Amino acid sequence: MRQVAIIGAGPAGLAAAEVLSARGLDVTIYERMRTPGRKLLIAGRGGLNLTHSEPLPLFLDRYGDRRDWLAAAIEGFAPDDLRAWAESLGQPLFTGSSGRVFPRAMKASGLLRAWLGRLEAQGVVLRTGARWTGWGEQGALRLEDGTEVAADAVLLALGGASWARLGSDGSWAPLLASRGVAVARFRPANCGLLVQWSEIFAARHAGQPLKHVGLRCGPAQAEGDLMLTARGIEGGAVYALSAPLRDAIERDGSVRLLVDLRPDQTLDDLAARLARVRSRESLSNSLRRALNLPPQAIGLLREAALDGPIPRDPAALAALLKAVPLRLVGTDALDRAISTAGGVRREAMDEHFMLRALPGWFACGEMLDWEAPTGGYLLQAGIATGRAAAEGVLHWLQATLRATPADL
Ligand SMILES: Cc1cc2nc3c(=O)[nH]c(=O)nc-3n(C[C@H](O)[C@H](O)[C@H](O)COP(=O)(O)OP(=O)(O)OC[C@H]3O[C@@H](n4cnc5c(N)ncnc54)[C@H](O)[C@@H]3O)c2cc1C
Repeated sequence: MRQVAIIGAGPAGLAAAEVLSARGLDVTIYERMRTPGRKLLIAGRGGLNLTHSEPLPLFLDRYGDRRDWLAAAIEGFAPDDLRAWAESLGQPLFTGSSGRVFPRAMKASGLLRAWLGRLEAQGVVLRTGARWTGWGEQGALRLEDGTEVAADAVLLALGGASWARLGSDGSWAPLLASRGVAVARFRPANCGLLVQWSEIFAARHAGQPLKHVGLRCGPAQAEGDLMLTARGIEGGAVYALSAPLRDAIERDGSVRLLVDLRPDQTLDDLAARLARVRSRESLSNSLRRALNLPPQAIGLLREAALDGPIPRDPAALAALLKAVPLRLVGTDALDRAISTAGGVRREAMDEHFMLRALPGWFACGEMLDWEAPTGGYLLQAGIATGRAAAEGVLHWLQATLRATPADL
């Protein structure tokens, strides 16, 4: 029986193991942590957004200029397939009003348990506490404890470079680069952005949310919730724009983001409401009475107008409420990002996810150089590329061994 070594027991590695073991291959997963799927479990803390229900062409657009690279893998295991698969693991799903798809349990533990059970039943061996550290004699895999493992094919599913304490620390990048694999530098994706708050604003408002705001920077727009932090801003709406904002900050040193504190109301509507409040009222009272604006939003207005007074004229104040300017001066640390951009470059791989510099070695999941916003696009692409790389392994074994599927 042909032996395949999979390194990394995150969603991509587990998805590959499922495909390969179902075809009768001898599959062992090597995972450096004591337990598998640590990042998947953390993703479950936010409800586990598995995928998205929007039409496939729109879904694929979320991968930006990596769309063409990932399209075949995602079409091969599309959002509908992922939903059917999760339900086959005993996880009923629901679709939120935003179109995002979640397990009804709103966590990952049940799904992971059922998935591992299926893999075990299919004969997959999981070796935890087994860290891949490079190559031994004759190209065998070398583990941290000095063990060398020979395999007919190797599939790397090592994850990105954030939340290192969960296992994915990106330390594989120099190993692969030393073997001639092109690896793009890691950058934070779906990350917090830094603002130089005044001390008083940070002390008063860090940790408070701004619910349902609009964000705008040039043509890029998003709506959703924003969280004020001691260092800046984070949250769903921020993550949706973090890639273009990060790129602008890298290029220009900083970028201006406009926050619409009342995206569902027009400028005229806001101005009319403000005009109805008596001018004797303090600014805070006016904003509270007219618009039910919370203290952190009023604080943000004051912060944005640090160099001058906040206008009292209703039209000018409404215009500020629709476009509070924030200067973003950096991205938060890579390790804190939900995901990472960078990793194994497209040109380093063939169309079957095999590394051109290392025949018989495949890579998949977040360790590849693509990025996408939150919304289920990360897990969908991780699982779909894991399955596609497994198909690549089967294709390669058949081709090199001149075997039929039944011989493998
Ligand atoms: C807080 C948070 C919330 C998230 N929420 C969502 C969400 O709701 N929806 C969504 O789509 N995505 C979400 N994500 C992202 C998603 O979890 C990841 O994109 C996904 O887990 C990546 O899968 P992967 O298998 O490629 O990598 P990983 O899940 O990172 O798995 C890689 C595995 O490889 C192991 N490994 C690394 N190096 C070695 C080595 N040298 N030897 C052996 N093993 C090694 C690691 O320990 C790890 O177990 C979230 C991420 C975070 C941090």
